[in-house]
Order: sequence, then C-alpha cells, then structure tokens
Amino acid sequence: MNDRATNDVAVLVPAAGLGTRLGPGVPKALREVGGASLLAHAVRRIGRARGVGCVVVAAPVGQSEGVASNLQGLLSAAVSLRVVDGGATRQESVAAALAAVPPDYSIVLVHDAARSFAPPELIERVARAVRDGADAVIPVLPVIDTIKQVDADGYVTATPDRSGLRAVQTPQGFRRAVLEQAHRLGPALGEVTDDAAMVERLGVRVFCVPGSEAALKITRPADLATAEQLCDPESLAG
Ligand code: C5P
Repeated sequence: MNDRATNDVAVLVPAAGLGTRLGPGVPKALREVGGASLLAHAVRRIGRARGVGCVVVAAPVGQSEGVASNLQGLLSAAVSLRVVDGGATRQESVAAALAAVPPDYSIVLVHDAARSFAPPELIERVARAVRDGADAVIPVLPVIDTIKQVDADGYVTATPDRSGLRAVQTPQGFRRAVLEQAHRLGPALGEVTDDAAMVERLGVRVFCVPGSEAALKITRPADLATAEQLCDPESLAG
C-alpha cells in the first residue's frame, strides 16, 4: 500500500515534561544531542514516515513559540505542524494536543519526544496496523530481565512468566474516535502510564507490533550518551 497517498495520520508529541531524572537544566525535550534538540530529532523522524500529514507538539507551558521556531524547516510542506501548550501531566498534554488535530485525520499516534530516535519504519508499522483494522496498537519488545512483583516491605510476592511479558514503547496508534472517547472520560479512567492503558480500561483490544531498539526512552544521564551514538550524520543536518 502507498502510505503517502493516504496521509491519514496525525502524530501527537507530548514534550512538556521537565525530565528531572535527566538532571537540572532546560526541559528534557529541548536538551540538545548531536546539535539538535531531542524533540527536533523526534519530529524529523516522524516527518519522514509515510502517511503522516500532521504533527501536534505539546510544549512546556509558555514555551510554544520557542518550540515552534526550534522545529522550523524540519518538516516538508506536505506535513503541517501545530504547537500547543502542554499540561501538568502527560495525559493532559496528550489531551491538549489531541484537541488540536484537524478533523480530516482518522488515525492518531501518540509518541514521546523522549523516544527521539524511533525510526520512521516503526511509525509506519504502527500506523499501518491501525489502518489494517486495529483500534489500538502498541510497539513492544521482549523483556530481557526477570521481573518480580514486590510488596511494600521489599519481599517478592510473585515472579510472572517472562515469556508472556513485553516492554512497551511509543508511538502508540489509535483509531481517532477511540482515543477521543478515552480522553472524554479522562481522569475517570484513573492514573495510567501509557495511552493504551486508557483504552484498555474502555475494553478496547490492543494489538502488539514489533518495537525497535532505537526507540529507547531517554530518561537518565547515561541515556544521553546512547543518544549521541544514535545521531547519524544525516540527522545533524538542519
Ligand atoms: O516523564 P516521562 O519521561 O514519562 O515523559 C514522557 C513524555 O511525556 C515526555 O516526552 C515528556 O515531555 C511528556 N510530558 C508532557 N507533559 C507532562 C509530562 C510529561 O508532555 N506534564
């Protein structure tokens, strides 16, 4: 299928977090790695994914103008960019970005600015699975470590079978109406750590596709060194 001809995908990029685990300084999405902000690396890769027609970034409050100029010229004329103020939580930032998606997009992907090196192929894979019929799609990797469930006193209560566990990445993809319904209920769905958890609570089945090692979440100082290695010469341009 020619994804470009469809152009039915809007990508939301919540980028309003402070990223304190990365240490003091500018908000995480605006940290520079290899001559460009983490957000710029993410947006450039999103713009290269076939089918994407619109990118909506949720910026730290009061910084939307600066963020918009940071991203100037990164996207082709075929891809529109909107920058909105984010919220106090990631969920609020996603809701603000979702509200700014133009009406003509039926597929919405939610992608963390902190997963700056997620390759265009991964973005296309998630979008394609939604286009092929899934209501919600997440990219996953097998879990390498054994995972323990632990109680408040520090004692192990269970060892889940690792073969049935997956580590979850972004972008996560949704039929637009499904994500909008989840956000209309918003806080009533409770605290969640990813977007798919919101729609799971609506009873929606979430489909898994293979993730990518390059889509690691840049969280701690050591991750910045890995990020430097992921900066290919092409991504330094512009
Ligand atoms: O803090 P964490 O790494 O989980 O944040 C994941 C993503 O959500 C980051 O890209 C961050 O900028 C974004 N975020 C946001 N608004 C918030 C908190 C986090 O857009 N209030």
